[in-house]
Amino acid sequence: MPEQVVTVEGILRDQARMTPDDQFTFHCGLDLNCFTACCADVSIVLTPYDILRLKKALRIKSTEFLEKHTLPLFSAQQKFPLPILRMDAETKKCPFVAEQGCTVYADRPWACRMYPLGVAKPKNPTAPDQPFYFVLHEELCQGHGQGKARSVRAWIAEQGIEEYEMMAASFQELVLHEFWNREAALTPQQAEMFYMACYDLDRFRRFVLESRFLELFEVDETRVQALRSDDEELLEFALLWLRFSLFGEKTMKIRPDVVEARRQAARQGSVTVTTGSSV
Ligand code: SF4
Ligand code: SF4
Repeated sequence: MPEQVVTVEGILRDQARMTPDDQFTFHCGLDLNCFTACCADVSIVLTPYDILRLKKALRIKSTEFLEKHTLPLFSAQQKFPLPILRMDAETKKCPFVAEQGCTVYADRPWACRMYPLGVAKPKNPTAPDQPFYFVLHEELCQGHGQGKARSVRAWIAEQGIEEYEMMAASFQELVLHEFWNREAALTPQQAEMFYMACYDLDRFRRFVLESRFLELFEVDETRVQALRSDDEELLEFALLWLRFSLFGEKTMKIRPDVVEARRQAARQGSVTVTTGSSV
């Protein structure tokens, strides 16, 4: 996945727009001189599900994964934090590349699976700006025009992308929310919440199970049990909690006794009633 400097305007203007049924011809493998050349000096943004898969594959906690293998990408324009895969400081190579290829192939990130395909998803898709796929052409990649032709749909199935897209749907809803159009950057506390809930799942698990979280929010016991060991369930729950905390949506329910206690305290003038997330 070589770094491709592309702008939204450039994509919309220059790229041939492909539907899932359109075909392209591409082959990647050990037989090509460029094999693994694309696994260096590249910015790969990791999604929450990418991190979940990689930390499980490496049998390490999310906190350790983030510290060892990522760099945070966060700016006023970006609005919310994104981790990118950290290349080796000297060789500039991906930490997971070896002579024989990707050592985390079964759990490689979404961007690595998609390459050389890109997907453009306008924030507010209108008739002329529907989501579409396109093929990235880069000089170092010799795979174009090699091997068999297949449809975009077939590529997505072959590369195991559907599972990643299903898991990414809730994250996309979060980051494409109109909240980001209205609001300035997150406060440092909100950015930290976002980072923990999306990317540092093992820390988020401790936050849910070992703080006063479950005293404040109604979460049924079956779900609590699932949150103890099921990372996918935990990620979905984390994204619901962010929607509650950042957007004020009713995706979480505060326990009635907590609401009542806060009302009483407010009547007595000792607290202000809020439905925020400061647990
Ligand atoms: S994760 Fe695997 S496929 Fe992706 S850049 Fe690293 S070595 Fe290459
Ligand atoms: S064909 Fe393209 S994607 Fe495959 S190894 Fe070569 S540069 Fe990377």
